Amino acid sequence: PSALRELFVESPSVRWSDIGGQTLVKQKLKESVEWPLLHWQSFARLGVTPPKGVLLYGPPGCSKTLTAKALATESGINFISVKGPELLNKYVGESERAVRDIFRKARGAAPSIIFFDEIDALATSRSDGETSSHQGVLTTLLTEMDGIQDLVGVIVVAATNRPDVLDPAMMRPGRLDRILYVGPPDLESRREILRIRTSKMAVDPDLSIEDLAWMTEGCSGAEIAAMCQEAALRTMKQDIESSFVSQDDFVYAAKNIRRQITRTMISKF
Ligand code: ATP
Repeated sequence: PSALRELFVESPSVRWSDIGGQTLVKQKLKESVEWPLLHWQSFARLGVTPPKGVLLYGPPGCSKTLTAKALATESGINFISVKGPELLNKYVGESERAVRDIFRKARGAAPSIIFFDEIDALATSRSDGETSSHQGVLTTLLTEMDGIQDLVGVIVVAATNRPDVLDPAMMRPGRLDRILYVGPPDLESRREILRIRTSKMAVDPDLSIEDLAWMTEGCSGAEIAAMCQEAALRTMKQDIESSFVSQDDFVYAAKNIRRQITRTMISKF
């Protein structure tokens, strides 16, 4: 049996409009992944070398996965998604085979995007004293990336919270050579995220998005989304028949967010 039985081409349903902020990341992903895959003739005509891989890095919960999925949805490009840790199989040689399977599958589905989430699990620096099985996976990954011929129509998008532990060999030209920081949302982005999340809920007509946007300073998009859920649960606990989530419950939930992103974390990026 294949080491990755559940490996298949997905069709995500995330739209660009589901993502608050990250305007630059959205634009850069279109230019470096969508354009070369869908308009490769223009690249060839103008003599531009398309990138083979893009690395998205930044703190947890700040829409790396979301933007990769939206890119696939909006461009209609096939999307193969793999989580790094899932690939690390106990049996020697299995993980390497799984990596080769993924690339074979992607070539068969071209134009396609291979999304490696938590790439750090596979591609930690060789000097890290990692086990030799990890090294085999990394070597296979690098070999496969080098083997993607121009015009074959496969681009790798990888994501990590820990760019510092990635083997620099991953970022050489011709591999993950476009690097994009996906940071925490600023005030305007938090307004947008709050608008997106609350538009899917029944909320207090007096709800102040503005107050919540200020209160959620330092939060990730994931924390803001979770805060909205918390507010709704709190309303339900008080009155299961309630017709909307109250402003008070939003304020309570916003005051009680436990922030995962710290200043030290950000300063390392
Ligand atoms: P990790 O590094 O932990 O994998 P990530 O950066 O890949 O995190 P996502 O998986 O994209 O983060 O985001 C997690 C969830 O948070 C999303 O499914 C979504 O509900 C919410 N979210 C994050 N960022 C945004 C955003 N900019 N707009 C709307 N929702 C967001």
